[in-house]
Amino acid sequence: MKRGFLKAKTVVTPQKSPVEEAALNPSPFIGDGGYMYCTIPQDAPPNEPVSECCLPPETVANLLKIPGFPHPMQPIVEVLFRLGESPEKGLGLFATRAITQGEVLLDRRPLLVSSMSQRPLTTKALEAMIAKISLTGQPPNPHKILSSSMETIVGRMRPENRAAYMALANSTPDSPVLGIFDTNGAGIVDAELNDNGGPTCTYSAVCDIISRMNHSCCPNTSRVFDKNSFSIRLYAARNIAKSEELTFPYVDLLSCKADRQENLDEYGFVCTCHACVDPASDDHREDIHEFEFDPPRLLKWARDKTLPDDWLLKKCYRQLELLEQEGLQSIDEYWEVLADLSRVYLCFGDIKNAREWAARAYQCQWIHCRRFDRADIDVILGDKYEQSAFWCLRQR
Ligand SMILES: [Zn+2]
Repeated sequence: MKRGFLKAKTVVTPQKSPVEEAALNPSPFIGDGGYMYCTIPQDAPPNEPVSECCLPPETVANLLKIPGFPHPMQPIVEVLFRLGESPEKGLGLFATRAITQGEVLLDRRPLLVSSMSQRPLTTKALEAMIAKISLTGQPPNPHKILSSSMETIVGRMRPENRAAYMALANSTPDSPVLGIFDTNGAGIVDAELNDNGGPTCTYSAVCDIISRMNHSCCPNTSRVFDKNSFSIRLYAARNIAKSEELTFPYVDLLSCKADRQENLDEYGFVCTCHACVDPASDDHREDIHEFEFDPPRLLKWARDKTLPDDWLLKKCYRQLELLEQEGLQSIDEYWEVLADLSRVYLCFGDIKNAREWAARAYQCQWIHCRRFDRADIDVILGDKYEQSAFWCLRQR
């Protein structure tokens, strides 16, 4: 751990604007709601990319416990996209050559990472707000707190990062600093940033180039936040043709078309992607959503000789077909069905096929596999697969 980093100063200068305050206090400090304002990595040389952050102190402490934090980002030897005009969408990113599923397109430290959001606040933030009410008798305004927090973070940015941030789109009626955060912020799931017992909260990151990507309900890219390098890595979730636009989802992909559009309304556009014009898509997505991925069902089939041998295999292949048809290789269900196919073949004692599907699951780096228990997939790929609980289970 870097010494002194957590000895944060509590700054109380209400007469100064947050931007002035930030300029006076470049070191980490605790702001409204008990969040810590800090630069990650701290003490970075000018050529090292940095993120300005507003995080719970426990999250920062857990990050600093990672040996060698921050790890180097993945070097990108070839730029595989260009910025260009997207019909009816303004600017977008386009592939400059054919890209293979799994290729890394970008590894980038976000301009900003914040656990402050208009969504539910952490317990600590709520406690701080309650304390304010009891002091002043006036309920604090969450919108005002968030706005002030964003001004503080942006005020702390390096000038070039601030310029890149301010150049991003704002599709809200809010001030640019807050509106850009709301328009471009991408959620980071708790497990990606803080799987070490810190407070559970919603994190959001704004990245300059990645935030240029337009939405699709059949996205061809996926991004993963790597807390070790404190960067967002962008992967091709399937093969992408030369000149094809790179897309990313702004909304939950397994909700129905009407719900997706309702959420997209706040971005001010109507989605016309393949899924939004295909009348069968809603039913397909509902089927994908309802597919059960639970080992108990697999175990039940493996032991129940009244069920046909291919009972589960057929269901898995249908699920995979639907996922590919809907262009949903970026979501967790894709990893899960590949892993299930591998387990089913292991139940047959077919190690060749089991390993082929396990390898495909393993390659899905664009799906944050740490969220899953993939120990059995590692066993299938290793030389101790005969010790797996699934090995030859259908033949016993
Ligand atoms: Zn769509």
